[in-house]
Amino acid sequence: MNCDFHTHTGFSDDCNIPMDIMIEGAIKKGLKTLAITDHVDPGFPDPNIPFTLDFYNYHKCLLQAQSHYGHQLEILAGLELGIMEGQFPVSKKIVNSFPYDIVIGSFHCLGKNDLYSYDFSDVDGPAMVEDFYSYMYRCLKSFQDYDILGHFSILDRYIGTLYDYGPCEEIIDEILRLMVVGGKGLEINTSNFRYHTGTWLPRGSILKRYRELGGEILTIGSDAHSPDYFQFHFEDAIPFAKSLGFRYYCEFRSRKPEFFTL
Ligand SMILES: [Zn+2]
Ligand SMILES: [Zn+2]
Repeated sequence: MNCDFHTHTGFSDDCNIPMDIMIEGAIKKGLKTLAITDHVDPGFPDPNIPFTLDFYNYHKCLLQAQSHYGHQLEILAGLELGIMEGQFPVSKKIVNSFPYDIVIGSFHCLGKNDLYSYDFSDVDGPAMVEDFYSYMYRCLKSFQDYDILGHFSILDRYIGTLYDYGPCEEIIDEILRLMVVGGKGLEINTSNFRYHTGTWLPRGSILKRYRELGGEILTIGSDAHSPDYFQFHFEDAIPFAKSLGFRYYCEFRSRKPEFFTL
């Protein structure tokens, strides 16, 4: 595998490495295809890190990079779009404003609460896990303008405990069914290896269930915010995906999946 389908550049509010440096790092690493998926998170509640995106310059730099580096590396234009209830018309407009190759839909918030800075000390963990997946289901019933769902079980990382998903199994099944019927993919996001959370992202049980329900669209992304992390632990992700019944990984171009043998 010579690609990475979830990466960031200095256009993301949480990354300060310019696009050119990231691209040159990817070339050095021997990648053939790099999907740049910078953040935009409409409605994000933290004014210090609002996850807005300078679309004009982002699109301009992507096009310039494609022509400048195109003979060495295929650069795909992507987005990591934060999904938030109440923001769907804005999000839809954003997604349709440029011919993106891939749109990763991600949950970084539960309602108006940003999970990264949330104080979990007095939280009823199992109840919050149920709230999170119920919220996700509600959102995804209304919003389908994404191609793959990013880091599905991200709440595990922030809440810091691996709660039993038993009470949420039905709602998670509903989400996965919606995704399968809607032709939406899942990603294996290998940033879990940076955070040492003791679980895959998403958990293996989620990936396995998606596969059992007929889902086959799988991308693998490092979520790199620096060139050091391109394809981080992909050598582990591939046998992991195979062990769960996946036969293919996908690359996206013009928002259509192409299947390659794992
Ligand atoms: Zn994310
Ligand atoms: Zn990301």
